[in-house]
Amino acid sequence: MPKHQFNPVFAKLPTTIFTVMSALAVEHKAVNLGQGFPDEDGPESIREAASRALIEGPNQYPPMRGRMELRRAIAAHARRFYGLNFNPDTDILVTSGGTEALAASILGLAGQGGEVVLIEPAYDSYRPIAEAAGAIVKSVALTPPDWRLNADALARVITPHTRVVMLNSPLNPIGRAFTRDELEDFARVIAKSNACVICDEVYEHLIFDGREHIPLITLPGMRERVVKIGSAGKMFSLTGWKVGWVTGAARLVEVIAKAHQFLTFTTPPGLQLGIAYALENEMDFTLGLTRTLQSHRDLLAEALPGLGFDVLPCEGSYFLTAGIRKLTNEPDVAFCERLAKQAGVALIPLSVFFSGGKPDHLVRFAFCKKRSVIEDAIARLEKYFGK
Ligand code: PMP
Ligand code: GLN
Repeated sequence: MPKHQFNPVFAKLPTTIFTVMSALAVEHKAVNLGQGFPDEDGPESIREAASRALIEGPNQYPPMRGRMELRRAIAAHARRFYGLNFNPDTDILVTSGGTEALAASILGLAGQGGEVVLIEPAYDSYRPIAEAAGAIVKSVALTPPDWRLNADALARVITPHTRVVMLNSPLNPIGRAFTRDELEDFARVIAKSNACVICDEVYEHLIFDGREHIPLITLPGMRERVVKIGSAGKMFSLTGWKVGWVTGAARLVEVIAKAHQFLTFTTPPGLQLGIAYALENEMDFTLGLTRTLQSHRDLLAEALPGLGFDVLPCEGSYFLTAGIRKLTNEPDVAFCERLAKQAGVALIPLSVFFSGGKPDHLVRFAFCKKRSVIEDAIARLEKYFGK
């Protein structure tokens, strides 16, 4: 046998927790409140628009930065919701989902010799991509139960070599949507540094209780330093389509496009046209989805305390988190495995989103599921915990 030596970053990684828990859910016929994907597809009109494009074309490589129809629709969306002006020629890049947008942004803006700062809990793709790009990864951990963004802690890890800070709001897995005050303090620290910020805003519309989503890029001094990432999958309940985008200053988008051209080069044209249609015609679906998600969050938040879970606040995203210490002394991973196998409910342990593996007393419930599915999960948990 040859002695293969693989990229150590990926060779040592386990399969993502989302795939692991979804497989466990299938194996044990568990209700899947683990992996965050809706169990109802987004509007038929969007799927019709895309299928028309599949039949009638175009079906060959679209432009590297994306179909102009979609780039114009992304620009119009940013103007309508945030008053942002992005030039479709220079400030917008269409990607294969938020995941590719993140990878291309990290590869384009960070890399050999640079430092990348994560705010933990951090979405699981950030660190391996930054490490594989050759960057040194540092992190700042938020602390429960309020998970406030701490600008002083950020200032302490930033050095002249910091090329990128990753910011996710609303934040997966904890459902925080950062306030204007928190973001202003954050922006003041960034303004004194050499860093760019990659803002993962894939849940920008999924924000509750009348809160306003505040893109960091709208704050003073941030337009030239921030790229904002969006995902049609989350806006239109079409997570399998993998249509995403990066928006920001031409200078930043240009170098990100250099990475994108060798990752995927482009994204299926029919799906791009479907999403252009969606942004122009189906934003009411997204706004309605937010109301439905809020009611699903409430259903869970009301039921879980009676079962022994300590529910934490949830301001946005697909996810509600809860403490498990009243129920068990086990670490969260063991608890989630037991629940999938014995109670028939799959969840996600929060420790996987922290580089130090702690805290390990919190679990994540995805509520982007049909109401009946959530009710079924609650009934199974009631039975299992003997309530
Ligand atoms: N960022 C976060 C925080 C996410 O939760 C997800 C989810 N799936 C992504 C990025 C990736 O988005 P996409 O499915 O569009 O690749
Ligand atoms: N973002 C989704 C989640 O947090 C999962 C996406 C994936 O499986 N990669 O559940």
